Amino acid sequence: MSMFKDIPVEVGVIYEGERIRRNDMQVELGGPTVKEKFELAKVRPMDAIEDGKITIIGPDLKDIKEGSAVPFGILVEAAGPTLDQGLEGVIERRIHGYLNYIEGFMHLNQRYDIWMRLGKKAFQKGLNSFEPIGKVLYRLFKSELSIIEKVQITFITDPAKINEMYSAAVADYEARDAKARGLKDEEVDKFYGCVLCQSFAPSHVCVITPQRYSNCGAISWFDGKASASIDPKGPVFAIDRGEIINAEKGEFSGVNETVKKRTMGEVQKVWLYTAFDHPHTSCGCFEAVTFYIPEVDGFGVVNRSFKGATVNGLPFSTIADSAAGGRQVDGFHGMSIEYMRSKKFFAADGGWNRVVWLPKEVKERVKDFIPADVVDKIATEENATNVEDLQAFLKEKNHPVVASWVAEETEPAAEAEEAQVVEGQMMPVMTASSLPIMAGGFKIILKDAKIYANKVIIKTVKDEKAK
Ligand code: SF4
Repeated sequence: MSMFKDIPVEVGVIYEGERIRRNDMQVELGGPTVKEKFELAKVRPMDAIEDGKITIIGPDLKDIKEGSAVPFGILVEAAGPTLDQGLEGVIERRIHGYLNYIEGFMHLNQRYDIWMRLGKKAFQKGLNSFEPIGKVLYRLFKSELSIIEKVQITFITDPAKINEMYSAAVADYEARDAKARGLKDEEVDKFYGCVLCQSFAPSHVCVITPQRYSNCGAISWFDGKASASIDPKGPVFAIDRGEIINAEKGEFSGVNETVKKRTMGEVQKVWLYTAFDHPHTSCGCFEAVTFYIPEVDGFGVVNRSFKGATVNGLPFSTIADSAAGGRQVDGFHGMSIEYMRSKKFFAADGGWNRVVWLPKEVKERVKDFIPADVVDKIATEENATNVEDLQAFLKEKNHPVVASWVAEETEPAAEAEEAQVVEGQMMPVMTASSLPIMAGGFKIILKDAKIYANKVIIKTVKDEKAK
């Protein structure tokens, strides 16, 4: 693009989706090893903005040690005669797309979870200052969002300044989210869709409704509405809700038609209020992920900043990998923290009565939205670090899922202790996101496998031991 000829690297949509590996990175800005990081957009009065001003507080890129990860903040301040605070979330989310247009620069996630990397090659080509990065952002904001008349951008790497601004940014996000609560899905005739993450997850469409925030937690229904109205050809667009096909599971005709069209038929239907059968797709920048724990018939939830292994022994990254990429995976569901505050949060699966484990930090953040009769029955890492502990905890607290165990435990007792044989039509017996099979010296990996069998033999453990 000619508007970027003074920038030392290329800038264009072809660089979206570019990943920068640790060995190839010059510097990491924010990311999982850094506690405080943020990106924030604020709408200011016209006279408070110096159009095109770029400020760097703290060491610039060339002064940051190669290979290190540093605390980082970006503040985008914009003004325009018709710009209002309701558009701050929309402006802020564009930072992700615009920075990913830069060759050799990677931007992931959002808000207090941002994770960026500058590649060594781009650094060597001369991208060694935030100044040209600010110019790219400035020019894209001005050319793509005509509603913005003035914009100034501040990059912060000074830890003390980040610390000072971080809490204010988090309070801003919370205020924005709170404003979007209250409206119900049945009360509107339009939902909003976002395909910004298709550069990383080609079959992903976020369906944003009043009661289901976007996966990244950065776009509410109100943000979607504002974004689609100021930039109807942009990545966020209106969806005619259409008929309610299934109110319990959250199936709407307009949503099905849109996801089918926007994923080229890859996804045929989406159920918004359940993690099973046709769950919402998961991209890669979701704030948290739900994982089904079959041993207790309940959901665990883990957020991006949780360190270490969850109750099923797997860390966030592994669980996130089993859901990400724009797929619909039974029981695994990328989502925002704000969705956990919605009355529709996995409503078809039992809602909070089905959640059995989540990090203490997340529980604190959403505890006012957890029904009082279940809040103390949900374990955190302080109560259970493995499934056995979890079972004991849930039993002791009489968590609602325990009722389903009792049903399962008592049923077979009525049967003879003989081996059972179930025959008949082909029945699904197992699903797995990745199933390795060794055969004839080859390792065959079945992806998203669903295994059907004509006959299922069920034996008690006692029968097996007796042999
Ligand atoms: S997670 Fe969804 S709403 Fe957020 S940027 Fe990606 S596609 Fe858009």
